Amino acid sequence: MSNFQTTVIGSGPGGYVAAIRCTQLGLKTAIIERYPTLGGTCLNVGCIPSKALLDSSEHFNNAKRHFEAHGINAQKLELNWPRMRQRKDDVVSQTCDGIQYLLFLQDMPLLKTKIRS
Ligand SMILES: Cc1cc2nc3c(=O)[nH]c(=O)nc-3n(C[C@H](O)[C@H](O)[C@H](O)COP(=O)(O)OP(=O)(O)OC[C@H]3O[C@@H](n4cnc5c(N)ncnc54)[C@H](O)[C@@H]3O)c2cc1C
Repeated sequence: MSNFQTTVIGSGPGGYVAAIRCTQLGLKTAIIERYPTLGGTCLNVGCIPSKALLDSSEHFNNAKRHFEAHGINAQKLELNWPRMRQRKDDVVSQTCDGIQYLLFLQDMPLLKTKIRS
């Protein structure tokens, strides 16, 4: 087991930003996360998935209510929920992978475990 000067618990927006900053300041830093994917609430179940779905629903709403005024006929409009959900999952996965890559660039060890309080 290596020794670290700083250990950050949690890979949410608070944790990963703090951990990267510590590394940039020259501290040997590790980050600990209990879940298989990084990014915490925001990336996995909060901000990112909700905004991905909001984006899709805005497209649907525009097609349903506003396209006609632009001369675009979209009468047989259908919502494909599995496809919409898949896109949301893809956005989440790409964003979480982005955090993994940021930690990789810092050469930062990731310990996947739950710290008991
Ligand atoms: C539906 C929803 C929508 C949101 N939309 C927005 C938005 O649009 N804009 C915005 O600014 N904010 C939004 N938020 C709030 C945002 O998600 C939080 O403010 C943000 O995630 C807080 O970041 P954090 O790093 O403090 O905590 P978290 O993101 O919760 O991360 C904490 C991490 O620590 C890990 N952890 C905790 N305890 C342990 C332990 N004992 N051992 C190991 N790991 C542990 C957790 O697994 C988690 O990954 C939204 C939240 C929700 C629920």
